[in-house]
Amino acid sequence: MSIPPPPSRRRFLTNALGATLGASLGAVVLSSCQDTGTPSATRSSGPSSQPNNAAAVVEPPITTGDQALQRLLEGNARFVANRNEAIDEGVERRVAVSKGQQPFATVIGCVDSRVPIELIFDRGLGDLVVVRSAGEALDDSVTGSLEFGVAELHTPLLMVLGHQRCGALDATIKAMDSHRTGAHPGGIEYLVDTLTPAVQQVAGQPGDRLDNAVRANVTHVLGELRKSPVLAPLEKAGKVKLVGAYYELDTGKVIVL
Ligand SMILES: [Zn+2]
Repeated sequence: MSIPPPPSRRRFLTNALGATLGASLGAVVLSSCQDTGTPSATRSSGPSSQPNNAAAVVEPPITTGDQALQRLLEGNARFVANRNEAIDEGVERRVAVSKGQQPFATVIGCVDSRVPIELIFDRGLGDLVVVRSAGEALDDSVTGSLEFGVAELHTPLLMVLGHQRCGALDATIKAMDSHRTGAHPGGIEYLVDTLTPAVQQVAGQPGDRLDNAVRANVTHVLGELRKSPVLAPLEKAGKVKLVGAYYELDTGKVIVL
């Protein structure tokens, strides 16, 4: 009895690579980032420990923010349960998305090494537009990158993901308490300044101060993004869903706020 060769990845092409849509983007968009469509793909189900028995399952296209959120949370549930399927980073998927991409969600998260966005959502190449900055702090580059994901790559979901025991917010708390604001080197001071409003907002609140600040910061970042002249009309038109979420280091779970 011969042993079938293991499939290299969970997702396989079902369509030719020539599914390039050639959608034109704005002149300011880098050609290497163009949304030129993506081939249809399937995805195998089942635990990674049994890849040979994994059955290919076609993932339906994502058209709404709610669908995108559900897909993210399903992936996170796999991550939490230690049922991660092999990340779609193999040759088939790499080739499939080399000519175009159609990510289904844009996520901004912290730079914390324990919160790798694709891993905690169990997603692979071509799935997510990920922007990371300490404490999800916004600046023009971060905001512009998020706008790019939504407006140019057409993701119907934009998630702001804070996380438990965020060091950036903890550092901001310590800086405020010690009155050391203004004393940080380089760009770190910018981070402290940017994260300060969330810390100030939770002053005097019951509960864990850092955790309160993390959650307040997510809300604050969402509020700032809703001021974007690019994002605001898209949200108003129902083209994108903005959502805040919290990653729990202790459990690996993402909780929608
Ligand atoms: Zn953090």
